Amino acid sequence: MKHPARILVVGGGYVGMYTALRLQRKLRNELRSGTVEIVVVDPDPYMTYQPFLPEAAAGSLSPRHVVVPLRRVLDRCHVVIGEVTGVDHAKRTATMKTLATEEEGAGGVEMEYDELVLAPGSISRTLPVPGLADFGIGFKTVEEAIGLRNHVLEQLDIASSTRDPAVRDAALTFVFVGGGYAGVEALAELEDMARYAVRYYHNVLPEDMKWLLVEATGRILPEVGEEMGEYAVRELRGRNIDVRLNTRLETCENRVAVLDDGARFPTRTLVWTAGVKPHPILAATGLPLNERGRLKCTAALRVAGVEHAWGAGDAAAVPDVTAEEPGKECAPNAQHAVRQAKQLAENITAAIRGEPVEDYAHKYVGSVASLGLHKGVAHVYGRKLKGYPAWFMHRAYHLSRVPTLNRKARVLAEWTLAAFFKREIVSLGSLENPRAEFELAAGTGRHNEAS
Ligand SMILES: Cc1cc2nc3c(=O)[nH]c(=O)nc-3n(C[C@H](O)[C@H](O)[C@H](O)COP(=O)(O)OP(=O)(O)OC[C@H]3O[C@@H](n4cnc5c(N)ncnc54)[C@H](O)[C@@H]3O)c2cc1C
Repeated sequence: MKHPARILVVGGGYVGMYTALRLQRKLRNELRSGTVEIVVVDPDPYMTYQPFLPEAAAGSLSPRHVVVPLRRVLDRCHVVIGEVTGVDHAKRTATMKTLATEEEGAGGVEMEYDELVLAPGSISRTLPVPGLADFGIGFKTVEEAIGLRNHVLEQLDIASSTRDPAVRDAALTFVFVGGGYAGVEALAELEDMARYAVRYYHNVLPEDMKWLLVEATGRILPEVGEEMGEYAVRELRGRNIDVRLNTRLETCENRVAVLDDGARFPTRTLVWTAGVKPHPILAATGLPLNERGRLKCTAALRVAGVEHAWGAGDAAAVPDVTAEEPGKECAPNAQHAVRQAKQLAENITAAIRGEPVEDYAHKYVGSVASLGLHKGVAHVYGRKLKGYPAWFMHRAYHLSRVPTLNRKARVLAEWTLAAFFKREIVSLGSLENPRAEFELAAGTGRHNEAS
């Protein structure tokens, strides 16, 4: 092995960050003596704690507190803000684009490595629904969550100020497609926030809004089991949310959502949360993928049949050795991602030291989901909870899971403070165009073209 042996971690999300965090602890002597180095590459300088995105969208948590700064947490690793665009594992090189390569107009830089960890996660799984690519918005990143919050509040402003009933109707119609935890939590939190916000609008009532959840199967929240999923449907319908099961979105051209039950909804908001697929970068690695594009891995988290390459999380097809049915893979969720990261760091350390590696084994323990402030549903370790206790458990669980003591303290402080004050209902959509004011002053830009 060359010196220092370089461990290249592609992705600084759940798997990437937790793996690097554990590796920098386990290999501290090697890092100190310079025989090993760890490089983490991610396009963002932070890891996103995705289960908190719905709370960020609702304004219960500020965006800064749902992300973890990689440079601070991984202080003994080299963090590169960039995107891996290809891997040649035979040569042990990865090609990447960074902000600097883009600025310089360079094609990309090559980096050699000794051990490769692939953890690029997943992206939204879209379908060829006409209009979806033009109008849909996903819910996987902090940018999308905050963009959606601003967008929803902006729709209330549009509805309040327009004289056109059709524009008002479309502004007050919010369509979510996909009933997993991302879609249900996002819808439930945003509806809760909007219901609260309209009390400050003299001409918009909660019943003027139409919130719609479209789910292709016969149930929502499969993660919490059938009974709790049925409870969640009743809870949402009790809030006047139109939950349509066994229904698909057929088209959404010209901002009209058309469902396969014949219903049509003119809308300015279409949120697509109908599942995820492995990150397409995996196809540019030449490593073995399964029929759904996930990296084929062994239970020890090695890429199947390949030396010095490892994978875990949403991107990897890891056999679930605890499952009764043979051939079952671990589901793409944070519960597996965090635990796999721990085993991955142990196994890489063992491999570098010439020790035996161990298989990853974890039996799914259930899940918790928030349905808005003080409302939730949970099915964990066989215990079923609903309403306030479930919501409290959701917060307690995620507080215990969010990485670093610093982040835990910030989240707890923010929740505590929020308990004493009114909810924040301001839209800061103008942040997306910070030069608008200056362009007006300078006589350039959109405002001046119009006049
Ligand atoms: C809204 C929402 C709520 C959720 N709630 C829950 C929950 O309550 N419970 C639960 O168990 N799970 C939940 N999940 C799922 C969970 O967040 C994912 O399963 C988990 O993030 C997977 O971890 P990962 O490391 O594989 O991927 P990620 O955490 O997504 O990390 C992948 C990282 O790779 C980076 N990357 C991508 N491409 C490249 C590239 N080419 N080069 C370099 N870096 C790259 C990305 O920027 C990202 O930082 C939720 C997901 C969402 C979206």
